[in-house]
Amino acid sequence: MPLGVVLGSAAAVGASLYYAEDWRVRGIIAGSAAIFGLWLADPFRKKVSLNRPKRALLHDKFDVKKIPKKVDVVVIGSGMGSLSSAAILSRLGYVVVVLEAHPDVCGGATHQFDLKGYRFDSGLHYTVPWSGPLFQLTCLKKASEVVPFELMGEEDGTFDRIILGEEEFKIKQGEKHLPEMYKRFGSGPEGKRAIDKYLKLSNDAMATLKVFFLARLLPKWMQNLIWYFCNGSLERLAKPTGEEVIRSLSKDRKLVSLLSSMWIDTGARPDRASFLMVAAVFRGLAMEGGVYPRGGSQRLASELVPVIEEGGGRVLIDAPVSEILTDERRGGRVCGVRLQSGVEILCDRVVSGAGYRATMGRLVPRPTRERFGIPVEVPGVAQSCGFVMLNIGIEGRAEELGVSNCNVWHLPVDKDGDMYSPMLSYFDAPLADDTDPPAFITVGSLKDQSYSEKHPEKTSCQVLLMAPLKWFEVSASESDGDKRGEEYMKIKKKWEEKGMKVFYKRFPKTQGRVRLVDVSTPLSIEKWLHSHSGSAVGLDVTPERFCDPQVRDILDPVSKIPGLFMTGQDTLLCGVTLAQMSGVVTAFRMSGFLPSLKIVLQSLFLV
Ligand SMILES: Cc1cc2nc3c(=O)[nH]c(=O)nc-3n(C[C@H](O)[C@H](O)[C@H](O)COP(=O)(O)OP(=O)(O)OC[C@H]3O[C@@H](n4cnc5c(N)ncnc54)[C@H](O)[C@@H]3O)c2cc1C
Repeated sequence: MPLGVVLGSAAAVGASLYYAEDWRVRGIIAGSAAIFGLWLADPFRKKVSLNRPKRALLHDKFDVKKIPKKVDVVVIGSGMGSLSSAAILSRLGYVVVVLEAHPDVCGGATHQFDLKGYRFDSGLHYTVPWSGPLFQLTCLKKASEVVPFELMGEEDGTFDRIILGEEEFKIKQGEKHLPEMYKRFGSGPEGKRAIDKYLKLSNDAMATLKVFFLARLLPKWMQNLIWYFCNGSLERLAKPTGEEVIRSLSKDRKLVSLLSSMWIDTGARPDRASFLMVAAVFRGLAMEGGVYPRGGSQRLASELVPVIEEGGGRVLIDAPVSEILTDERRGGRVCGVRLQSGVEILCDRVVSGAGYRATMGRLVPRPTRERFGIPVEVPGVAQSCGFVMLNIGIEGRAEELGVSNCNVWHLPVDKDGDMYSPMLSYFDAPLADDTDPPAFITVGSLKDQSYSEKHPEKTSCQVLLMAPLKWFEVSASESDGDKRGEEYMKIKKKWEEKGMKVFYKRFPKTQGRVRLVDVSTPLSIEKWLHSHSGSAVGLDVTPERFCDPQVRDILDPVSKIPGLFMTGQDTLLCGVTLAQMSGVVTAFRMSGFLPSLKIVLQSLFLV
């Protein structure tokens, strides 16, 4: 406990004792202070000591013998949502077992993989620094000590280079690009008015998003009350799509394209995504700061798993859950889980971080679902798209290859500088000969300085192209586990050619230095992240996610089935930080007000 807090509290109690004349009042003050101190510091909580290195904990294979004698909570999946809720529940004294289907590693979309000596991210290319305080909450350690998040970018603060056609716009940390935006698009009164209005609306959108997150901490009836009073903001900012709002502000197609440009981050096209989400990525990342964790994205899980194990729980991989068990005699209450291997683990509470569709469609038995009137599909909200991802290994140092740790957005435009029509053409005919795909390019090895210092000659890049699973369905039908058919390989080759053309256009100095190109598709996302229909970020961020009361109710962390709780990107929104936040929200909703308060106070005063 920091000395200042101890001295401050001691001084406050001492002063109260000194000035209180009645000995009974003194007794009450001293007693309350002692009880409060004990409650907060929890000196009697048992901690299991860990005798394995942190990294080894990420690869703990399932074995029945590893299951603790008494399990309080089973958590399905080990993404940031699952691990964050498991960590908080462990800190509150629950014995938690996390079951992850991946055969080699836990961490969900934050795991990393190595191919021919090059390291790649599965689902974190940058995030915002809110992750730090969330780790303080889940791990009870100073944010900077748990996972240092480092600001990305070049010397002038550029961390996203948006290239619309051949015109580049640099997005800078702390929104230092705003003067340039006014200079290029706001020199006339109309342009200036459009930018002013956009900034005002996007500020309102981000405030509304914060209310959306905070509301999830409350019981459903309170949430409904909030939305009853704040319905106006939702109607104005969340109901229209990003495209609708942005087009209504300006006729300048280049400005409209720029303000809509970072759509790949939302997992949905801007003509489908709610304005809330489109504004949150374009404004939020630059405002809060684009960061990447030192030690790589896998470091996130390696900090959370020990917290769960110290609480007597386990995080076990290669443990796909096939069913959530419910007891009809106890009103359909959850009573455990069954693994694909047939092993059953009994417990009173299950948290699913496997996504709404997978949980309700595959894991909850049909009679239970029907008993509680739970739909398999969320009305009006489909699964998000997946990605084709080119994992590229290049020999050479960043300087000679002309790459930096700044993301590059390659967005084709039409003759008027409009991004929308080429984007729609891409979705109509993605492999058409004459079109370039819209692409997001990231140089992962340079984002983690600890990695690039050790392996300066091994530069790894990824090209992300948005793609729904249905584009690969023909090939999926002939796939057989690891051995996919010839047709699939041919399609992958075409995608490789498309993606590499864009890559070489943006980084011509890498020609002749590429040593590896591996192509993954939405089928790979389905296989390795077990996400329904290969979607990259769970449910689509369409207006219904925010505005439809039925959808908000269905996606609440507390499900209608007693003992079943939901966490992860479908309960709040996509993104690593928001998945972490969803884990905190789920654990708080499960444990109630006082235990949640204790976690918050401990994180504020005991680190
Ligand atoms: C290619 C890609 C790029 C991305 N880029 C970024 C980015 O740059 N920045 C950012 O903030 N976000 C990014 N995201 C999104 C972000 O990674 C996710 O929103 C977030 O990590 C989701 O966390 P989660 O806990 O909800 O689920 P996940 O991390 O998806 O974890 C779910 C876990 O559940 C497991 N599971 C599923 N079913 C079962 C079962 N039956 N039994 C056992 N286990 C099961 C899965 O194997 C998986 O490990 C990206 C995502 C992808 C796919």
